[in-house]
Amino acid sequence: MNCGKNVPEKAPGTKNRNHCPYCLYSLHVDEEVGDRKAHCGGLMPAVGKMIKKDGEEVLVHICDICGMVRKNRVAGDDSIELVDNLPALL
Ligand SMILES: [Zn+2]
Ligand SMILES: [Zn+2]
Repeated sequence: MNCGKNVPEKAPGTKNRNHCPYCLYSLHVDEEVGDRKAHCGGLMPAVGKMIKKDGEEVLVHICDICGMVRKNRVAGDDSIELVDNLPALL
């Protein structure tokens, strides 16, 4: 991952760990969530956050290489500080 920290596979509150709890970077490895079929492999920094209709907070990741946008659930052990500092997107 981006920061080189050791990221545990299991994350509280989500089925698939898809981003780093320390720097919030994700990797473009999925076409559909969890399928690991994308060959892009680009780093996906979190650029903002959104509140979904059901009130759940999601991170918005954009791929550095291809520009694909993905929304990912905030995991229970994500850095609260980083999540708080992300701009809220509409
Ligand atoms: Zn990281
Ligand atoms: Zn990509």
